[in-house]
Amino acid sequence: MTKNACCKSEEIGTAYETIKIEKTNNVCPMCENYAKKQASKPIAIMCCEGACLRGEIARRAANMLCSSIAQNKTARICLGGAFTKDTGQRNLVRNAKKVIALEGCFIKCSSRMMKGAINDLSQR
Ligand code: SF4
Repeated sequence: MTKNACCKSEEIGTAYETIKIEKTNNVCPMCENYAKKQASKPIAIMCCEGACLRGEIARRAANMLCSSIAQNKTARICLGGAFTKDTGQRNLVRNAKKVIALEGCFIKCSSRMMKGAINDLSQR
């Protein structure tokens, strides 16, 4: 079977790159209020938020899960907020019984980003 040129994957083992993220003292009150309200939900749903069609499908699936299919059990994570700042969004991921990452493709952006932000976030 021939792989599509946009879907090449090469095994590189475990390697890391270091990225400096500028810190901010700004806090979004809406985001923090949302995180407080969602804190008791057992499942955190994050998504790669990709701008391509695959990312858009993942984003819509995440929104459907959290807004209608499993509204009472799931908290929709703001990936940017959870990744770039250690506040309520990251706590939702850190404290959830289960975290589900919906990825647009095998680059797995949201899983890799959050594994960088939360050391003991493991893949099961
Ligand atoms: S997982 Fe794929 S589709 Fe999603 S943001 Fe990353 S590269 Fe884009």
